[in-house]
Amino acid sequence: DGVDDRNLEDAVYAFGFGNRCSYVKPFGAGHINETYAVYMPGEDGDELSYVLQRINSNVFKDPQGVMENIFGVTEYLRNVIRQEGGDPDRETLSYIKTKSGCNYFEDSTGQPWRCYNFIPDSECYQLVEEPEQFYQSGSSFGHFLKQLGNYPADRLNETIPDFHNTVKRFRAFETALQRDLKDRAASCRPEIRFILEREKDCEVLVKKQEEGVLPLRVTHNDTKLNNILFDSKTGRGLCIIDLDTIMPGLAANDFGDSIRFGAATAEEDEKNLDLVHFDLELYELYVKGYLKETRDVLTEEEIRSLPWGARLMTLECGIRFLTDYLQGDTYFKTDYPEHNLVRARTQFRLVDEMEQHFDEMEKIIQKYAAGE
Ligand code: ADP
Ligand code: MG
Ligand code: MG
Repeated sequence: DGVDDRNLEDAVYAFGFGNRCSYVKPFGAGHINETYAVYMPGEDGDELSYVLQRINSNVFKDPQGVMENIFGVTEYLRNVIRQEGGDPDRETLSYIKTKSGCNYFEDSTGQPWRCYNFIPDSECYQLVEEPEQFYQSGSSFGHFLKQLGNYPADRLNETIPDFHNTVKRFRAFETALQRDLKDRAASCRPEIRFILEREKDCEVLVKKQEEGVLPLRVTHNDTKLNNILFDSKTGRGLCIIDLDTIMPGLAANDFGDSIRFGAATAEEDEKNLDLVHFDLELYELYVKGYLKETRDVLTEEEIRSLPWGARLMTLECGIRFLTDYLQGDTYFKTDYPEHNLVRARTQFRLVDEMEQHFDEMEKIIQKYAAGE
């Protein structure tokens, strides 16, 4: 669905580029938001200067809440980066307010638009090509957590309620199983059993958070490699992007989700389970980078919760895939009828291997927490 040119033009004017702007064209390959590159006249001709996005309000039902989170966190980060002696214009996103001082613009059809600066001389990788990149990824997301260590996480809006409430995810699965809307339960008995046997596991982190044993942190909730910009010159992690899902949450969740997809040896929808493994060496690389940054910030309980984060984020993801399979594929996009079942199977294979290697996962955490 193309954006009405008039609304795009209105947005360009709302952010104050109107007369100076050279041209605007579609940018990037995002699946969620509609993204445009804004070019401004520079010394050597037109330069890509800003990224202008129409927020997908089907996914983000509370754009005001999303933008408050983003402005709060990025403005805080700018100060931290200044204190570190860094460059706030390159090491975090700078969001721009509209001419009338709002943190987003609502077009004539009620759609929200927001705008931030483009960061030149940066690279973005879709997948881990060199193991070193996974180490960098751990260190970048660890640094992000450290920089926001004193940010009042309870002031953030929970823009997607219960996003990582594994207990509620389990309950939703039970409901889908009972209804068995598409008569698919018979085709996935082993997978159903796999989940039901782990009901108690689903409580482990939720309970610790409710009891106050684990603190709420600023979490990113999409800790993929392609949400880090790397500096073209130094090759080092430069800037964490894609801040739409910033919410209060557990450190173990962000950590765990990174491990879930980054330390797997195959794609999320690989059909041949012989190819799907949890790679302990990749896990160790991430832990090394992550704890180098966070070992003085995280509490002892949080550090101990990290392997559980990996296990439960992977289990939760598998539960969500199987729930969607039972419900008839209404949430995740599928290319064939068993797609969500195939995805659930890869996740459960990973969970199974994590359970088998759990002692080693904990030992690796202890090793780097001690500062090796
Ligand atoms: P999505 O939610 O669709 O993943 P992102 O915010 O991650 O959207 O942006 C998509 C891609 O656009 C990124 O992976 C990156 O390659 C590029 N990109 C986004 N923001 C910037 C920026 N400020 N500077 C340079 N490239 C960017
Ligand atoms: Mg992204
Ligand atoms: Mg995103």
